[in-house]
Amino acid sequence: MGCGVYVREYSVSTNKRFEVVKITELVENTVKESGIRNGYVLVFIPHATAAVIVNEYEPNVASDYLEWIKKYVPPDYEWRHNTIDNNAHAHIASSIIGASRIFPLIDGRLVRGVWQEIMLLELDGPRRSRRIVVEVMGS
Ligand code: ZN
Repeated sequence: MGCGVYVREYSVSTNKRFEVVKITELVENTVKESGIRNGYVLVFIPHATAAVIVNEYEPNVASDYLEWIKKYVPPDYEWRHNTIDNNAHAHIASSIIGASRIFPLIDGRLVRGVWQEIMLLELDGPRRSRRIVVEVMGS
């Protein structure tokens, strides 16, 4: 059986400086569309001031993720980069958290826990376009 790659790119807009955007459905729809049944699913965002996480999406915990970031990487700290464009915290948090996640794809289903949702973290919004690349690899 041959190996295939299916790629889709999406764009979402964000409305606040800090925001959690759930993208699980978008990713899982891409998996269905691909027809690929076994392999891997890569979720990647080509941005230096946003991040991708996998965890529970519930309003309180969603705001806790953002509070955690603000507490440990304070936006108003005197970062050197803030003299240029005032978003050093977003670069640092994006570096630590990461811009991608990979998932196993087994029997046509992206494998994740019951409480695991895929989320984009906006760290320097609002932005008109945050790109999300979903690549499904397998057979
Ligand atoms: Zn910057």
